[in-house]
Amino acid sequence: MNKIDLIKQNLSLVDLLEFYQFRLYRKGRLYAIRCPFHTDNIPSLFIYPDTNTFYCFGCGKAGDAIDFVKEYFEISTSEAINKILDDFNISPENPNYNFNVPMRQEEQTKDWLFYYDILEYIDYLYTKIKKAPRTIDDLDNPFFIEACHKHEYIKYLLEKLSLSEPFEKEEAIEEAQKCLEGYIKKAEYTEKAK
Ligand SMILES: [Zn+2]
Repeated sequence: MNKIDLIKQNLSLVDLLEFYQFRLYRKGRLYAIRCPFHTDNIPSLFIYPDTNTFYCFGCGKAGDAIDFVKEYFEISTSEAINKILDDFNISPENPNYNFNVPMRQEEQTKDWLFYYDILEYIDYLYTKIKKAPRTIDDLDNPFFIEACHKHEYIKYLLEKLSLSEPFEKEEAIEEAQKCLEGYIKKAEYTEKAK
């Protein structure tokens, strides 16, 4: 088996990223990291464990483990291949590597991404609502008033949620929970009314 196949068939990209100290955020079946190839405030480089490939929604970088190592360490393809085989102690005689995956911080990160997604959606709605008024009367529309009052706060929460310090994230999650309570109640009420 050649070196490339050896890596492709034996090495998990998720393990590789963890080995190189990237913090992985779980998103459903996928994982995400903060992209090292562009300034990334929220994890936007996604890892697809099924195909062992990655794609960054921020800068468009894509590929497999070898591509990642090559780009990240700024080395040639053959250097990247040898580095991986070396770092993981993989050889044709010994294709399996031993790497104890540290506890993935799934729970907490799942939490903040969950709130991030909802707040991002509200941010999108408010932006649209604020652009909607055509007449003076529209300015009295309760949706418009709500958007004007709450939009800045939603943006502030989004920013706070994307900070890397865990304690700030926790604070932001608590605030987001309170802030979203009203929305969730409204949604529950509408569900019942159906
Ligand atoms: Zn990127």
